[in-house]
Amino acid sequence: MSYEEMLKRGKKDLPDVVSKSERFETPRVKGHVEGNKTIIVNFFQMADTLNRKPEHLLKYLQRELATPGHFEDKRLVFGRKLGSTMINEKIAKYTHDFVLCEKCGKPDTQVINENGKLLKKCMACGQKTDIKTKI
Ligand SMILES: [Zn+2]
Repeated sequence: MSYEEMLKRGKKDLPDVVSKSERFETPRVKGHVEGNKTIIVNFFQMADTLNRKPEHLLKYLQRELATPGHFEDKRLVFGRKLGSTMINEKIAKYTHDFVLCEKCGKPDTQVINENGKLLKKCMACGQKTDIKTKI
């Protein structure tokens, strides 16, 4: 059997599970710097992926990055130059604090208010976790 044939065969033999991964991937920002501003073009998709309100995510980022931001059409505009690495780190932190279940790691959670306390409730396993991060 030739090497190419082996590759083909290997591909064919892969079970479906491998190509259909269910692992949640933290969204990453897409954007660019324009003058003294930073434009994020996929902000609404990211909020959608995280199943959180864009306003909530924006409020968090503004606070964490100490930078005002506003929506322009379907884009988010920050009032200064920001590196994508820095923004991605904050998104990852937000995802960890507000979205992913601490028990099962799934993103199927809701933020609920119970007696004035913010909790992250997992729809998959029922786990409730206090949200300590303030926005
Ligand atoms: Zn869970």
